[in-house]
Amino acid sequence: MSKIQMQTPLVEMDGDEMTRVLWQQIKDELLSPFVELKTEYYDLGLPERDKTRDQITHDAARAIKKYGVGVKCATITPNVQRMSEYNLHEMWKSPNGTIRAALDGTVFRAPILVAGIKPAVKNWCAPITIARHAYGDVYKATELRVPQGKAELVFTDREGKKVRSAIYDFECGGVVTGQYNKDSSIASFARACFNYALATKQDLWFSTKDTIAKIYDGTFKEIFAKIFEEEYRAKFEEAGITYFYTLIDDAVARVIRSRGGFIWACKNYDGDVMSDMVSTAFGSLAMMTSVLVSPDGNYEYEAAHGTVTQHYYRHLKGETTSTNPIATIFAWTGALAKRGDLDGNAQLTAFAAALERASLAVIERGTMTKDLAALWENGTPNVLSCTEFIRAIREELEREQSA
Ligand code: NAP
Ligand code: MG
Repeated sequence: MSKIQMQTPLVEMDGDEMTRVLWQQIKDELLSPFVELKTEYYDLGLPERDKTRDQITHDAARAIKKYGVGVKCATITPNVQRMSEYNLHEMWKSPNGTIRAALDGTVFRAPILVAGIKPAVKNWCAPITIARHAYGDVYKATELRVPQGKAELVFTDREGKKVRSAIYDFECGGVVTGQYNKDSSIASFARACFNYALATKQDLWFSTKDTIAKIYDGTFKEIFAKIFEEEYRAKFEEAGITYFYTLIDDAVARVIRSRGGFIWACKNYDGDVMSDMVSTAFGSLAMMTSVLVSPDGNYEYEAAHGTVTQHYYRHLKGETTSTNPIATIFAWTGALAKRGDLDGNAQLTAFAAALERASLAVIERGTMTKDLAALWENGTPNVLSCTEFIRAIREELEREQSA
């Protein structure tokens, strides 16, 4: 059988620890035998980031802007302990943060559903994708602890004119915070959400607390509404999907009662909190994919989980581990399918779909990694190591391709 050819390279970003081990196995077993992989390779593993003084991360971000599609392995975000473990020159910033800032992107996280593992919410039968605005608000807030006295909000414009507003006259000690967001960032968030809804043909929900934060959250609501009317209403009607705005508390109640199958756009804090709730209720972090979408249409795919450090330390001691490769496989299939769509390469898109089908078919017949076995509801599961599990997917894929 001849291999599938690619026209445009994918930006491939390698990573760290256990996911770096999986990365190589996935390429060797599940991709290279079927596709003549064309990638522009960036090693974002911590040793290379340190050696290049993190230049490699900036280069990778630039390459995504050039080619439009990237796939990334999980990477270590250094902390104090990693400084000594890797003998680092500096505590380099999170690569995800660097790439997100360079692309001005929004992160969409979606669970991968399999028959035999039921979500904790019994009426959910399709994925719920959370779109989190990863900029500003409480994450960039200025906080103060204050004694008795008057707190005010003061704004000075470019001409030096001041606007003052009383916050509170403290009769005892207390706390004060100042938060901000920017119209340009909110507009990018809105466009990323509308584009992703169109690309995936799913309804889009957006929620804030604009009844309380009339100006702050009201601005989010207005910018979304204006962009929708001016740029997207006609496209949504044509695609047969809807845009729906509601209060965050109403949204929470509706999400729980829903059957799933839509995108829920959330402000930064809401998205942080709700994505943990939604992913846990759907089953496992190892079954969550994540895609960063920029307002001008660049895509970066990855698994939502980290480098699975505990498994890696066991792997280094020579033990076999049962690490789940599904989210990393789906990062690759997401990127290959998008590349196929953009290049009009139907064979490549079809291969990505076949690899996803084969991966899920293996699990649905009862063969899986240890993390999923604990959630399995259809009898006794057959628990494999990650290497054996990837082999089982390879066999399934070969069977399907030759059928
Ligand atoms: P983690 O790597 O997601 O792992 C946390 C735990 O979740 C694991 O110990 C494991 O539980 C379970 N788990 C996660 N993925 C799994 C998989 N594929 N298969 C089976 N079990 C899985 O999070 P972490 O330990 O907090 O972080 C480790 C490193 O990853 C850190 O250096 C962090 O900076 C980095 N990180 C990177 C990204 C990214 O690049 N996107 C995201 C998050 C964290 P058991 O041990 O109970 O089996
Ligand atoms: Mg969180």
